[in-house]
Amino acid sequence: MAQGIIMKALSGFYYVRPDATPEQVIQCRARGVFKKRGISPLVGDRCEFETEETGEGTVTEIMPRSTELIRPPVANVDTAVLVFSVSNPDLSLHLLDKFLVHTEHAGLDNIICLSKADLAGKAQQAVQEAVELYTQIGYTVLLSSSVTEEGLAELQAHLAGKLAVVSGQSGVGKSTLLNAMVPGMKLETGEVSNRLGRGKHTTRHVELISLPNRAVVADTPGFSQLDFSNMEPEDLASCFIEFAAYAESCRFRGCVHRNEPSCGVRAAVAEGKIAASRFEHYGLFFDEMKDRKRRY
Ligand code: ZN
Repeated sequence: MAQGIIMKALSGFYYVRPDATPEQVIQCRARGVFKKRGISPLVGDRCEFETEETGEGTVTEIMPRSTELIRPPVANVDTAVLVFSVSNPDLSLHLLDKFLVHTEHAGLDNIICLSKADLAGKAQQAVQEAVELYTQIGYTVLLSSSVTEEGLAELQAHLAGKLAVVSGQSGVGKSTLLNAMVPGMKLETGEVSNRLGRGKHTTRHVELISLPNRAVVADTPGFSQLDFSNMEPEDLASCFIEFAAYAESCRFRGCVHRNEPSCGVRAAVAEGKIAASRFEHYGLFFDEMKDRKRRY
């Protein structure tokens, strides 16, 4: 039985890239049995398929998923590339932390890609501090530029064999970055997500793009909902991965590190072991989540 990955789903067809011949894409229907079992094949699904004499195929089996994102609807994503420009627009650590909360909550590995490195200019110092901060937390941080091609080969190397979703602040050049990595590809630049407006791009289909090293990247506007609607405030601390080591010394189990006495996380902030900016953003998101709950 041939195996492959679903690269695109459109109008009842699934476009499967066979493992054996990844330069090919086979147009498939899904076997009716999936509907009965309540399974809807997703882009990113690993599958088994049969090919008929016509050259078309049938998806016969969907493999268990390691992850499943709702927005964008992609299965088996293991890595998020969070693209934030160092300038124009300026690097926002508040927004970066917000994206990290979502990707951590979804169980993804993260690569932070600081784009437009050639434009750093006066922001050089702030950029260097951000690189140090997030590297120390444990993230892979790359500086990239599609002008000088800095960081592109490194990013590709990190993505080898992975299924990645590229996400981040709008206007940072996500499409430009992908175009630079895939020879011959011409994605529309100019930030599709902005042009379509909020909420509309749910109708836009998700498509996976093959990189030359067999990595697969989801071309999608990315995480469209950053409103924490799928999370509880108590889930938040675990998305700030550097808190865990210090939370062990909190006096109370279930400490949310806000006003509780003898809080190990707050002590670590006071000692400079946890960055003040990270703890500040934690508090802002926590309040945002509480406020949202109160409104309902
Ligand atoms: Zn605590």
